[in-house]
Amino acid sequence: MGLVVQKYGGSSVADAEGIKRVAKRIVDAKRNGHQVVVVVSAMGDTTDELIDLAEQVSPIPAGREFDMLLTAGERISMALLAMAIKNLGHEAQSFTGSQAGVITDSVHNKARIIDVTPGRIRTALDEGNIAIVAGFQGVSQDKKDITTLGRGGSDTTAVALAAALDAEVCEIYTDVDGVFTADPRVVKKARKIDWISFEDMLELASSGSKVLLHRCVEYARRYNIPIHVRSSFSGLRGTWVSNEPHAEQGARKVEQAIISGVAHDTSEAKITVVGVPDKPGEAAAIFRAIADNEINLDMVVQNVSAASTGLTDISFTLPKTEGRKAIDALEKTKSAIGFESLRYDDQIAKISLVGAGMKTNPGVTASFFEALSDAGVNIELISTSEIRISVVTRADDVKEAVRAVHTAFGLDSDSAEAVVYGGTGR
Ligand code: ASP
Ligand code: MG
Repeated sequence: MGLVVQKYGGSSVADAEGIKRVAKRIVDAKRNGHQVVVVVSAMGDTTDELIDLAEQVSPIPAGREFDMLLTAGERISMALLAMAIKNLGHEAQSFTGSQAGVITDSVHNKARIIDVTPGRIRTALDEGNIAIVAGFQGVSQDKKDITTLGRGGSDTTAVALAAALDAEVCEIYTDVDGVFTADPRVVKKARKIDWISFEDMLELASSGSKVLLHRCVEYARRYNIPIHVRSSFSGLRGTWVSNEPHAEQGARKVEQAIISGVAHDTSEAKITVVGVPDKPGEAAAIFRAIADNEINLDMVVQNVSAASTGLTDISFTLPKTEGRKAIDALEKTKSAIGFESLRYDDQIAKISLVGAGMKTNPGVTASFFEALSDAGVNIELISTSEIRISVVTRADDVKEAVRAVHTAFGLDSDSAEAVVYGGTGR
């Protein structure tokens, strides 16, 4: 039996009962002969509460002190969990990210892990302990300041530790039974996926699926660490995310489905730059202005120009949270670029169909659009990759659209409804 890393999210350790329940599960893994490293998130909504508190003290909290504050949430849960495990008669020690050797760059509030040196964790394990590590935090290499990895970063901590410790598997415990063919909060008939490739999981994550963060899957793929996403409430086998179907799937050979799932995202807005002269350098100037403000774009669409005016429109989507910054940046360059006006629209949703099988199955795009049309959903923007088709629609249409597409591709489950045990999808 090898080493397992288990990660428990905030909703799994929301209160004392939750912590005791999780402690039992951890002890079971240890009894089964595994060495166990646990990564834990802050209890329930603690991180949100700390953010609220900081905002009351200072309008735009950021940087070093903000990270120092937020990391306190995970310290609370890690210490309580270690106590609960000891209470069950097993040895456990908790460690901050810094003590666990999670080394990051120095970008506060969204640091990247650049190295993991888990010497103390190894020692703790060798001495027979269960090691509990605070998720979502590290220490910067140059200044030795405490950093955080961005919201939801505990998953990345878990995968990074699994890679550094050469774990057999990284188990991510959450409040649903695994990765579903659509958000089970929206599609009751969503089906649990038994196995999904890193590739498809990455596309789902970047298309709005919240069950695993993109960065965490990217890390797992780079180091080839299989992830098992499962519920801490039910104990059922969940979803394996890996290069190949995992041996634990047993004799049943899991085939790659044509379509893995439907994801949706309502966190983006659309900006349309109206009346752009159709000549070389215009798009470059617009997107340079956006890039210089470190704004990440998603879809970009340019229309053909009207012959009579020689003007065209360019639309793009971006996180709503970056909307203000982008508009300001473009307004500043308006006369230099020479466009007519800007339109901002945050009442949009993106719906994406993901599956490596679409590479070799013609007709997927047509069926996708037919399903939307049958549901009376208007398409505003379209973008595709080799294994994904995305459209932008009105935000009001998102649930209709996701359900229609899910049904059209035969993804509806005919057995029990998907269970959501708690929390908000993180
Ligand atoms: N507690 C942090 C958050 O809520 C990190 C995590 O849960 O992964 O974002
Ligand atoms: Mg959390």
